[in-house]
Amino acid sequence: VLIAYGVSAGLGQLGLNGQLLTPEAGSRCRLAAITTGAPVVHGHPVDYGIELICDTCQLCVRRCPVGAIPMLRREHRGVVKAKIKTERCFPTVAQAHGCAVCMKVCPVQRYGLPAVDRHFAQTGEILGKGTDELEGFAWPLDGRFYGAGRKPRIQPGFVNPPGWHFDKDRTVPPADAELAASTFGDGPGTAAPAVHP
Ligand code: SF4
Ligand code: SF4
Repeated sequence: VLIAYGVSAGLGQLGLNGQLLTPEAGSRCRLAAITTGAPVVHGHPVDYGIELICDTCQLCVRRCPVGAIPMLRREHRGVVKAKIKTERCFPTVAQAHGCAVCMKVCPVQRYGLPAVDRHFAQTGEILGKGTDELEGFAWPLDGRFYGAGRKPRIQPGFVNPPGWHFDKDRTVPPADAELAASTFGDGPGTAAPAVHP
C-alpha cells in the first residue's frame, strides 16, 4: 500500500512489475511509514523515465513463469498501471519460495537506473537483456536454472490448487471465517494467505 505514497513523494516510479523502482536501489527497498504532526516538506512525483525503460524492456512480463504481468497499463481504481494478475501471482509466490522472478530479472533492480539509462541512451537497448546473467533464474520447484528464453513448465492446476480461495473481483475481503476455513496447497491445515483489496 505504501508504493503509491512512494510514487507521490518522488522516491521512484511504478515499474510494470508493480514494484517501486527507485533510481538508487531499483526495487530493492522496503518502505516504512511514520505518522507525525511535525511540519514537513512534501515531495512530489518525479519522472525518472522509468515508463519508457519499462515499455522497451518488458522483461518481467516475459519472464514471469505464470504470465501474471500484463504488457500494457490500464486504469485500475484510479491508477494507470500494469495490473498484476494476483490470482496467478499469489499462488505462485506461496508455492515457489516467494518467486520474485520479476524482481530478479529487472535491470533497474540489477544494475541501477543510471547504468540502464546510460546504456539505453548509447544503444537504444536494455542493459543485460538477452543474457543469462539478467534473465536467468533458478526455479525452486525443480532446482533447475532457466536462462534467457527458457522458462519452467507450469503444471495444470498450479495457479488454482485445491482449496485455493480467491475473491476475483476483490470487492469484499473474505470473512475471517472463510479464511480460517480455507486451505492452501495439498497439505491439510496450511493457512490460506490473506487477501485484501
Ligand atoms: S512474483 Fe512471480 S508470479 Fe508474481 S508477478 Fe512476479 S514473477 Fe510473476
Ligand atoms: S523488468 Fe523491465 S519492464 Fe519490468 S519493471 Fe523492470 S524495467 Fe520495467
